[in-house]
Amino acid sequence: MDTAAARDRMVDDLVDRGRISDERVAAALRNVPRHEFVPGVSVREAYADRPLEIGEGQTISAPHMVAIMAELLDVSPADRVLEIGTGCGYHAAVTSELAGQVYSVEYHERLAETARERFDRLGYDVRVRAGDGREGWHEHAPYDACYLTCAASEVPDALFEQVREGGRLLAPVGDRSQTLYLYDHDGDDWHRTNHGGVRFVPLLG
Ligand code: SAH
Repeated sequence: MDTAAARDRMVDDLVDRGRISDERVAAALRNVPRHEFVPGVSVREAYADRPLEIGEGQTISAPHMVAIMAELLDVSPADRVLEIGTGCGYHAAVTSELAGQVYSVEYHERLAETARERFDRLGYDVRVRAGDGREGWHEHAPYDACYLTCAASEVPDALFEQVREGGRLLAPVGDRSQTLYLYDHDGDDWHRTNHGGVRFVPLLG
């Protein structure tokens, strides 16, 4: 199957189902070759709207969740973004289509290394650090936006501290029952809005 056609079909379907309304997000998902991030999976599976296993007991979110998160985070081309949980790198690649520089922290050394090689090969300018994302990546702070692709029972303070005033943070929060929250900083304090129930792998450490 032609991978670009499969991708177009996936995005058309997400738009039809009302999962994507932002043109920029649709364009980003049309550009990123998801099948390259999940080797050993058929093209049909790679472009189905389902989560997939990526090794080390981890899973990549379904495309609609990546789209929803991209729309909520609403990054622009000049933004510096911090991702916690690189995994296979698919979500970071989508973000890098929309943002300026993307920094990503991955707990599993092997996943970090594989993602790095993949970004190089596919030409994505995403910087990866293997380590504990609960500490963020302070060398490159402050970030305009930060998001977690794993669920925390509480968002680590270090992550709030590394986002600039006026910036945004998006995170699945909770243990067995999780909620996707968008945190906005209004200059005085963080305020959060609830974006519904979700299911992510846990933040480790
Ligand atoms: N965005 C990823 C989704 C990966 S799943 C993708 O597109 O593939 C969540 C990832 O978070 C897993 O790879 C897991 O290893 C990682 N993770 C879990 N706890 C972490 C932590 N404390 N610091 C950094 N990464 C973590």
